[in-house]
Amino acid sequence: MRIALAAVAVALLTVAGGRFLLRADASITHAADTRPFVAITFDDGLNGETTRAAAETLERYGVPGTFFVVAHTITEQPELAQRLRDRGHLLANHSYDHPRAGNTDLRYTQVSRAQATFFGAYGECPTFFRPPWGVQTRFVNAAVKRAGMLTVLWDDEADDWEEKDAQRLAAHILEQVRPGSVILLHDGEDGILGADRSTTVAALPAILEGLQARGLTPVRLDTLLGIPGYTKDCG
Ligand SMILES: [Zn+2]
Repeated sequence: MRIALAAVAVALLTVAGGRFLLRADASITHAADTRPFVAITFDDGLNGETTRAAAETLERYGVPGTFFVVAHTITEQPELAQRLRDRGHLLANHSYDHPRAGNTDLRYTQVSRAQATFFGAYGECPTFFRPPWGVQTRFVNAAVKRAGMLTVLWDDEADDWEEKDAQRLAAHILEQVRPGSVILLHDGEDGILGADRSTTVAALPAILEGLQARGLTPVRLDTLLGIPGYTKDCG
């Protein structure tokens, strides 16, 4: 069931060109095309062994993932973060420390603090931001715009944070998926080390095999959207 790396390389060549619909609130939920690519994204890590297990599962299938990480975790788990980068997974910005939705910081410094953390670690920072809980306020949107980033949400999720049945989780993801989909899963919980996401990890093989059976190839978000995933212009 391994997806050939050659197929991923072809995807890199053919998806260049920025194919997405930018919504009025400056967010993207999926690639606006009918080509057979999707992106698997994980929120709320890094989360130690759970993140590692998710990444290793993807790698067994030759699939790169996109990890929207809570940025302080890359400082606390630098080897894991580096490992993800070394194995070809994409890191993206899911805030600095995942504040509650009622956050009253009018400048919403979560975006820039996270970018500074990435830049300090790698000399580059992500171009994609996903707000905690997907909640976009005008303060969040203004901060994303100041940072020159894009907000990327999703069009395929299955409440994996509360699902306890891996097969049912996989089935719900596969029911909704379509060419261009951005799939949302969670390898952590609000950046808390040790959070239990075993059901999500257990569902991954069925999700990956189901995608393959449908002729859909998972690629990184930057490949899916045709936009570079990192920039050295980190504000
Ligand atoms: Zn989150």
